[in-house]
Amino acid sequence: MKQSKLFIPTLRDVPADADIKSHQLLLRAGFIRQNASGVYTYLPLARKVLHNIETIIREEMDAIGSNEVLMPALQPAELWQESGRWYSYGPELMRLKDRHDRDFALGPTHEEVTTSLIRDEIKSYKRLPVSLYQIQTKFRDEKRPRFGLLRGREFVMKDAYSFHADKESLDETYQDMYKAYSNIFSRCGLDYRAVLADSGAIGGKDTQEFMVLSEIGEDTIAYSDSSGYAANIEMAEVKVEGKKPDEAEKPLEKVSTPGQKTIDQIAAFLHADPAQCLKTLVFKADEAYVIVLVRGDHEVNEIKVKHLLEAETIEMADPDVIKTMMGAETGSLGPVGAPEEIKILADNAVKYVVNGICGANETDYHFINANPGRDYRVDVYGDLRNIQEGDPSPDGKGKIRFARGIEVGHIFKLGTKYSEAMHAAFLDENGREQVMLMGCYGIGVSRTLTAICEQNNDEKGLTWPVNIAPFHIHLVPVNMKDKTQSALAGELNEELQKNYTVLLDDRKERPGVKFADADLIGLPVRITVGKKASEGIVEVKIRKTGEVLEVSRADLADTLARIFAQLA
Ligand code: ATP
Ligand code: MG
Repeated sequence: MKQSKLFIPTLRDVPADADIKSHQLLLRAGFIRQNASGVYTYLPLARKVLHNIETIIREEMDAIGSNEVLMPALQPAELWQESGRWYSYGPELMRLKDRHDRDFALGPTHEEVTTSLIRDEIKSYKRLPVSLYQIQTKFRDEKRPRFGLLRGREFVMKDAYSFHADKESLDETYQDMYKAYSNIFSRCGLDYRAVLADSGAIGGKDTQEFMVLSEIGEDTIAYSDSSGYAANIEMAEVKVEGKKPDEAEKPLEKVSTPGQKTIDQIAAFLHADPAQCLKTLVFKADEAYVIVLVRGDHEVNEIKVKHLLEAETIEMADPDVIKTMMGAETGSLGPVGAPEEIKILADNAVKYVVNGICGANETDYHFINANPGRDYRVDVYGDLRNIQEGDPSPDGKGKIRFARGIEVGHIFKLGTKYSEAMHAAFLDENGREQVMLMGCYGIGVSRTLTAICEQNNDEKGLTWPVNIAPFHIHLVPVNMKDKTQSALAGELNEELQKNYTVLLDDRKERPGVKFADADLIGLPVRITVGKKASEGIVEVKIRKTGEVLEVSRADLADTLARIFAQLA
């Protein structure tokens, strides 16, 4: 492809409104342009990159027997009313009316469309399982579109849906998807982890998120420094073996702590370790209030509390309610003498706090030497805190470290959520009607493109992995007016295209401009045809490492084969 013909509007300056590296570079290198907040045009280079990512996705999805379809983005409201999401999805759903005043939505995802299709077409267990996927533009009116393609309002997603007669079949497809996703993100050259996520069920076996490790990620991942274990922080189980210190229990004592409210203040005031203090929180779980105790140096994990109580919802109790119930405000709360009717849950670590410090349910007073069982009641102990860096990994291998992650993919066992609401049923072997089981599986294709850029750049520009790069080779004749150079470049262009995709910089620009653009665009290998063209010698530069080699025309094919094998 001749660069003179390709629309690549590069920019010299860093755009003011782009605050992450990938967004800046995609704008500067002429890959994308913004159209409205969270809405972008993919220019030719980005289109090629998307195409490469999509090809990998298609190959891996086809390999596990998923069928590619293309469903409408425009979806009638009736389907969404049937599933109930017309009412629950909120303002993120883009809604519109047609000329007859009928309601429609622009699809943020396609559970409704797929479920209605399958329920109309499949009536017997003999035709299950079935798995469908598509690569399509999605619409979500995100509250805070940001970071360029990372969180858009119009974006490209691969979404897949599977339908099953039984749980074993769903498990099998879920595992196939897991493997396909792992292959896809590996082939995209990404450093990622598959993490357990919260599905509402303890254990998190029913949903996993694929996270690209990156400082700009919105999620915190807890991972083992010595094994493949990784989980969303709210899911990671704490498995610390506790031990009671050999310390005699001292008599409970109420002490004055004027103005001291936070754990740090109390610990400093009483010259104690925060680990000696207890944090007392009051939650409203469904309709009931509960007290939750964690050690002062730990953070309570609401999702774990919710799971332990098997509650549907959980929130911090209202300050007024706390005041009436406990007789004191947050900052002075404690379990000693707490109302009988309120359940007290405590994190496992609290069991081992001997002579602890806690609020006295009286403003400006705390207890010291409070001991569980003797001075206060604990109804249930459990794992109720967030895991911390340095804790043992739940799989018993190594210690926990934290990292930030960008969610690029998500696999989820939906069960009967949609099939029940929308009556997707089939007749089983015994002729009995049963509801189908479903799974759904998404990849943010345009978000993946951004994640690849975040992990592959340097101060000069982008550094594309070979599989994803818009072209393999940037062929740059230094001076197009030089007949020898332009002739050699022309011949190489023909030759190289047999094995590689080649971008020929045939522009009559200064060499400095050409080289700066080449670095910015970041194709894996640059071949410069310069003064030594007359001797049949060219310069080969590896973008990622900066390594430069002088290569004769005769050796070029072998040298490139070796370089690309190394880069792959
Ligand atoms: P997030 O928590 O980031 O909002 P989500 O849980 O809403 O993501 P899903 O509904 O699971 O996302 O969508 C599947 C995939 O689509 C996500 O894993 C992500 O990669 C991508 N995605 C979701 N929202 C956006 C968006 N606004 N822009 C770009 N990609 C997105
Ligand atoms: Mg979302």
